[in-house]
Amino acid sequence: MPARTILVINCGSSSIKFALVAAQPGPFILSGLAERLGSTTAVLHWQQDGQQHSEALHGGDHRAALAALLPKVQAASAGSLLGIGHRVVHGGEHFTQACRLDAEVIASIRAIAPLAPLHNPASLQGIEAALAVYPQLPQVAVFDTAFHQTLPEHAYRYALPESLYREHGVRRYGFHGTSHRYVSQQAAQLAGLAVDGSSWLVAHLGNGCSTCAVVNGQSRDTSMGLTPLEGLVMGTRSGDVDPNLHGHLSRTLGWSLARIDAMLNQESGLLGLSGLSNDMRTLEQARADGHSGATLAIEVFCYRLAKSLAAMACALPQLDGLIFTGGIGEHSPLIRATTVAHLKLLGLALDETANQRTRGGASGPIHAPGSPRVLVVPTNEERQIALDTLTLLSA
Ligand code: ADP
Repeated sequence: MPARTILVINCGSSSIKFALVAAQPGPFILSGLAERLGSTTAVLHWQQDGQQHSEALHGGDHRAALAALLPKVQAASAGSLLGIGHRVVHGGEHFTQACRLDAEVIASIRAIAPLAPLHNPASLQGIEAALAVYPQLPQVAVFDTAFHQTLPEHAYRYALPESLYREHGVRRYGFHGTSHRYVSQQAAQLAGLAVDGSSWLVAHLGNGCSTCAVVNGQSRDTSMGLTPLEGLVMGTRSGDVDPNLHGHLSRTLGWSLARIDAMLNQESGLLGLSGLSNDMRTLEQARADGHSGATLAIEVFCYRLAKSLAAMACALPQLDGLIFTGGIGEHSPLIRATTVAHLKLLGLALDETANQRTRGGASGPIHAPGSPRVLVVPTNEERQIALDTLTLLSA
């Protein structure tokens, strides 16, 4: 049986993703998803020892889902469960690292909620449910933004009136910090370099996408900003657009703010460009079949990604390597090759055989001889959250 385990929880407004993670590296002991919480079709899915299981929750909410999960976690951990690590999207400027949850920390997460109106209230729902169901267990919040609190002011300030920053917190925060931190540490290990003294470009490409410049194990710049909409083309998010777009659509089409927000967050990105799908697998297949929208969506995605990586290079003293991660970064040789083809000025080139071979959870180098490193590194945010939680609880 594992010596020390942590339950990692990631709450959405109607879902909870979870994983029971052991301190030593290896597959999750138990993992799964509770979804459609609060509806009559609420259900808990989990997998353990290679077996899939499901249990109806009959209209259950977050608390009911965690109560149903508790006996399974206790049985699977056999007394080794040390605590719970919660993923929290926004820690504002207040949280520069993971933090043990108490009334004060919960109040601070609540105070930051206006910056992440969709995400932080969902996390709080999960935290409060977990504290009610597991009162005896210490609990820790791990923030997506915390890793980026090392950004220098010239990277995090917008060119806006200062009062918006000082009085209302309008600045660039960045997200996906847990992933950028995890894969840049793994990359240093793979390359045989010390984290201190190494410099990386990271492309995290999932449904949400962001780039990051990591120097000495610290974030120095990143593509997401005040919200996770800024930067790259994503599954359904537009990434950067002209800031005058809101005014233009309002004046010319009479669109409301809510309509424009929904369009930029849910109807744009790969989905908007292709007119077909937000899923890269579907788009790659459609492109192979000659679909012009899918072809364009992939071209724009890769060109904008390359532009962002080149911009991030401004924050590096030297380039020790480019890291691809996230579902697309880990599995798509096409996206990696098309992106790197735009980065010849950084000296980057791929070994096409290694690029084709490295997919499906594999990690390793895919660059050509003479090129700076290009590495595929599978992300594991749950593991990083578990490690942060363990570190804090062992201190
Ligand atoms: P999330 O951000 O929700 O965690 P993931 O990191 O799982 O998402 O990434 C989801 C994306 O990865 C989707 O666009 C999906 O199509 C893409 N993806 C997964 N497998 C492949 C593959 N074999 N080839 C291309 N894209 C893939």
